Amino acid sequence: MANTAAAPLPQTWDLASYFPTFAGPEFAAFKNGFRTDLAGALAQAEALPEVKSADTAGADARAAWAGAFAVYEDLSARGAHLVSYLGCLSAANAADEAVQAEDAALALLIAELGKIKTQLLRALRPADDAAYAALLAEPALAGAGHSVGLLRAEAVYQMPAALEALAADLGVDGFKAWTRLYETIAGKLTFELEKSDGTRETVPMAQRQALLSQPDRALRRAAFEAGNCAWAAHADTCAAALNGLAGTRFTLYARRGRGHFLDVPLHDAGVARATLDAMFAAIAANYELPRRILKLGARIQGTPTLAWYDLGAPRPLAPLPAYTWDEGVAAVQSAFDAAYPKLGDYFRRIVRARWIEAEKRANKRGGAFQTSSPVTREERIYMTFGGTINDVVTLAHEAGHAWHTHVLSDLRPCARDYAMTLAETASTFAEQILVRGLLAEPGLTPERRAFLVDMETGHVPAYLLNIPMRFIFEHRFHAERKAGVVSPTRLGELMVAAQREVYGEVLELGAEDPWFWASKQHFYFADVAFYNFPYTFGFLLSQALAAQFRREGAEFLPKYEAFLRETGRASCEDAVRRTLGWDIRETQFWADAIVAVAPAVEALEQIVVARGQ
Ligand SMILES: [Zn+2]
Repeated sequence: MANTAAAPLPQTWDLASYFPTFAGPEFAAFKNGFRTDLAGALAQAEALPEVKSADTAGADARAAWAGAFAVYEDLSARGAHLVSYLGCLSAANAADEAVQAEDAALALLIAELGKIKTQLLRALRPADDAAYAALLAEPALAGAGHSVGLLRAEAVYQMPAALEALAADLGVDGFKAWTRLYETIAGKLTFELEKSDGTRETVPMAQRQALLSQPDRALRRAAFEAGNCAWAAHADTCAAALNGLAGTRFTLYARRGRGHFLDVPLHDAGVARATLDAMFAAIAANYELPRRILKLGARIQGTPTLAWYDLGAPRPLAPLPAYTWDEGVAAVQSAFDAAYPKLGDYFRRIVRARWIEAEKRANKRGGAFQTSSPVTREERIYMTFGGTINDVVTLAHEAGHAWHTHVLSDLRPCARDYAMTLAETASTFAEQILVRGLLAEPGLTPERRAFLVDMETGHVPAYLLNIPMRFIFEHRFHAERKAGVVSPTRLGELMVAAQREVYGEVLELGAEDPWFWASKQHFYFADVAFYNFPYTFGFLLSQALAAQFRREGAEFLPKYEAFLRETGRASCEDAVRRTLGWDIRETQFWADAIVAVAPAVEALEQIVVARGQ
């Protein structure tokens, strides 16, 4: 008798296209070839002449630079192949010590790539506009203009090589030591939690966030207050770290010729100052929309306003829907098929080809990611499917990332790299297709609908209130720091003022978090200041894309794919303008993107009112 039951869908991935086996001769040969070629390329790069003139006298230097760039690009792609492979292996089996040893060895090789880049920057730095234009005409740089432009922007703001080397050496025990000091304090910090039954418990600070999202309000309040007492005891040290980090940055910015403290964060995010200003202006003019979501939270809780420790509280509108793996895959599949058939075909193919690792088993690392190899031009998705709707959303999210990579996969490697501001666009767009698909399912129960609407709106206050609040605080802190050291008291004042301004009356007076500047680790990153705003940028851009898709239907999708293909070849502004015709330097663009969230907020209000809450 024929077996008519469909075979269960694969739940583990196949990595054989990277290498047949981890310990096999192919892996060793690839790694050894990479190491040998790295050493040769570095020696050549150190001998690169400077790109100085646009005339024939500079022709040899231009050709040499273009050739060295192509070699660097090829080595970066081969390095990315190894990084992706070992990343997959170590995530899927965190206990494999042989993989960890290879990973550590690879990190040293990848650091050599940085040295080649430093030489490319050195040789590019003296190029004036004419020499640079002549360089871009080199055949080896066809399709690489945007990437070379980013290198040039970096090169212009370099100190002489000896000073950069000194800054890097001093950074280990200076600049970066502030971050380590903070992380050491935060890692060891505990607080005394008094529970409702009167017992006391010493709790590590790492567990505070989980306590702040518990349904028990008294427990949240206790964790909030006791946690802040612990931070207050380290106020001087935290303030010294924050002032030290910003002070060092100012010194380096001045030496490198950077005029404003936002210049580097903007360069890293790949957006212009006008775009950032337009986005925050539109958000500030529309605080009321995300505040309405918080007001519903207060209403459900039965309080007139929310305290800071209520912001992370669950809003239990409906129980968490459960899914088997096959049901989860089917839900994503039918949502993609209905709204975006090409994405549906791609998803069907990667499920069958075993490009997804989702099995729940021991020794897997937490979290989820999409990875890919520029060598095989294949993608992989890593996650652990635990059987809830949140895992189904994660699957759609990572599939969106993989689709973005796939759409770029025939471009030269350097044209496939996109800025962080554009990184979450395709993933959030795919998430929205899934949620829309689930909301359109026949026989949707009111409970399921309430859950989905809650899920759609749940993160909005984080993007449109919390992250803008952090930005305002960091901006004002940096502005005051330019004039001198900012005291812990003043840091608290700046923090409370930013919270009052952004959250408004929905945040209970006196129930702000004056110690957020101390407890939020993001403010203490040495490598990146103003860490958070690209997330809000990506969230709003994907809202705008989804709204346009709802208006135009299938006609929109070729434009969407054209946009994805530009993400590694143009600035955010140019990529959006060329393919979608939008000007993201205009406040109106961002205001429209925010308004696209309004229907979901209204649906949530109707659900809460209908329940008599
Ligand atoms: Zn993502």
